Amino acid sequence: MQGAFAEHVRALEGAGARTRLVRTREDLEGLDGIVLPGGESTTMTMLMERVGLLEPLRDAIRGGLATLATCAGMIVLAKDVTDGMAEQQGLGLLDIGVRRNGYGRQVDSFEAPLHIDGLNGKTFPGVFIRAPLVERTGDVEVIASHDGRPVAIRHHRILALGFHPELSGDLRLHREFVRLAASRN
Ligand code: GLN
Repeated sequence: MQGAFAEHVRALEGAGARTRLVRTREDLEGLDGIVLPGGESTTMTMLMERVGLLEPLRDAIRGGLATLATCAGMIVLAKDVTDGMAEQQGLGLLDIGVRRNGYGRQVDSFEAPLHIDGLNGKTFPGVFIRAPLVERTGDVEVIASHDGRPVAIRHHRILALGFHPELSGDLRLHREFVRLAASRN
């Protein structure tokens, strides 16, 4: 719909996947996985609602479609959103509470090395851009934190990240996601 999708296409293809841009409900047909990219969650939600994508996407993810949600995508997936627009009703599928732009003005963009559970080798370069702050987690698995706050979350076939792996030049998380998406077949 909007945001950093081109960078995800590049990263996914680098990780060996074939990709398709999803703009209508028909585009969901036959997918193994979907990326909800970073961008502006309010705009994304509004556009998805307008083209009738929100409901079918919710059904598909509920039904087990592998999902990689980054930054604004994580906001769109979250059950509770603070500092959103009044009409910002996203997918509400991931049991977390996030505050939009919750890292505040001074540190609204930063990089931090992250230790991510299940990822071998060196730390992952976390690129945070006006990132959501995860203020509450429910029945989900936190696989990375920064400054005591969750920044990477796993729940069944959902991987939600507060940062931008597609801008890091490190393909490990995209590879992990491609494996997850392929694991259903
Ligand atoms: N602040 C944006 C939002 O609320 C998210 C920023 C991003 O995706 N980099 O949607």
